[in-house]
Amino acid sequence: MQTYRTTLTKKTVFPHDVDLFHFSLNSPETIIFTPGQYIILKVPAEKGFVNRLYSIASASTQADSFELLIKRVPGGLASNYINTFVVGQKVEFCGPAGQFSLKNTPLTKVFLTTGTGIAPIRSFILSNKDPAQSYHLFWGMSFAADLYLLDELKEFAKNAPHFKFTVCLSKEPSLEKIDEADRVFFSLGHVNEAALGLINSLPQNSLEFYICGRREVVESLREYLYTHGIDRSLVYFERY
Ligand SMILES: Cc1cc2nc3c(=O)[nH]c(=O)nc-3n(C[C@H](O)[C@H](O)[C@H](O)COP(=O)(O)OP(=O)(O)OC[C@H]3O[C@@H](n4cnc5c(N)ncnc54)[C@H](O)[C@@H]3O)c2cc1C
Repeated sequence: MQTYRTTLTKKTVFPHDVDLFHFSLNSPETIIFTPGQYIILKVPAEKGFVNRLYSIASASTQADSFELLIKRVPGGLASNYINTFVVGQKVEFCGPAGQFSLKNTPLTKVFLTTGTGIAPIRSFILSNKDPAQSYHLFWGMSFAADLYLLDELKEFAKNAPHFKFTVCLSKEPSLEKIDEADRVFFSLGHVNEAALGLINSLPQNSLEFYICGRREVVESLREYLYTHGIDRSLVYFERY
């Protein structure tokens, strides 16, 4: 695996518990990866180092840098370490690695994800070069206050007629905290509930599913799809 020496050139702090990090490559000067792959950070620990994996959240066409969307996990070893990063800091990564990738088929891609599971999906979306490709993102989070990247998704949907997205708020009692003009992009409840309408409205086997998020979420979404008759060969996933 390749070692990448980078400089943190930008950090966007989102309101709740996620940051977007932009790392520019020093050596080598470019990175080649398949959207969906992750990169590995060595984190200093009590006895040496531990590895933490982060999905690349940027487009594969953006070769001289990459972006990571990282959740601040309270008490988390890597989270505490990454929190100390300041713009200009040199950071080393290894990679890229991982098998989670979009299949080259004409099927509609359905992305089911929660939290920072959006990271590889963002890379899929930003890297897509086929204007005819249909895809629908269902992105789960608990509260309206957890939200980030909404403007980017709206802008993307405006320019890509076959891209649709729904943000699913599982713990909000209503959409009153969301601007009225944006409510069309939201639903109340979990991602599986929101996706069921799409699943029922299209012929079986016309959809391909990509799931990403914490292990227990991915497992429960997979089970949900299988019990709704989706063939296992049409379900791909990445577990955090
Ligand atoms: C293939 C892959 C890709 C990944 N990509 C990303 C990514 O793009 N962005 C990202 O933020 N993370 C990603 N992760 C998770 C990441 O690797 C770390 O596990 C995460 O950052 C927590 O590490 P930590 O050292 O801060 O916490 P740890 O010290 O490992 O854990 C501290 C405590 O927090 C709990 N915990 C761990 N993760 C979470 C969480 N997400 N939410 C709530 N509690 C948690 C643990 O169970 C533990 O109790 C990915 C994981 C994998 C396997």
